Amino acid sequence: MRDENCIFCKIAAGEIPSATLYEDGDFRAILDLGPASKGHTLILPKQHSRDLTQLPESEAAKVLPLAGKIGAALCSALGADGFNVVQNNGAAAGQTVPHFHLHIIPRYEGGENIVSWTPGSLSEDDRDMIVSKVSGILASKG
Ligand code: 5GP
Ligand code: ZN
Repeated sequence: MRDENCIFCKIAAGEIPSATLYEDGDFRAILDLGPASKGHTLILPKQHSRDLTQLPESEAAKVLPLAGKIGAALCSALGADGFNVVQNNGAAAGQTVPHFHLHIIPRYEGGENIVSWTPGSLSEDDRDMIVSKVSGILASKG
């Protein structure tokens, strides 16, 4: 499936040029135009899915192993010391391009803390409510 108005569909298909690190029948991995760190890479499926909730399981099964290989190659090639895999779903979560993609963000010792949050606390009421509601939904979907 393809969305004619989607820029990542066009990049993944090679219709818009990109700095491509890797390509196979299912995916294209490109350098992000606004990198969070040196080597920031995006893995784009060639088929259009809006986000993780729409990604076919056959593609989902392949994308994480590919992320591991690309992360290792970035560490080896650029001297990075680790990497984050980030994936945003929905505008509220920071997704700006509604075509599923994985961010592979190389991290360098002593570098900026790019992916972080301030830990809150989990109340007993929230814990019980969340476990009850979410486990119920997941169980009903088999
Ligand atoms: P999101 O916020 O949707 O998770 O991530 C979108 C990412 O795509 C951003 O990091 C942004 O810099 C990158 N991006 C947006 N448009 C283009 C483009 O045309 N080419 C490339 N290579 N990256 C893009
Ligand atoms: Zn698309």
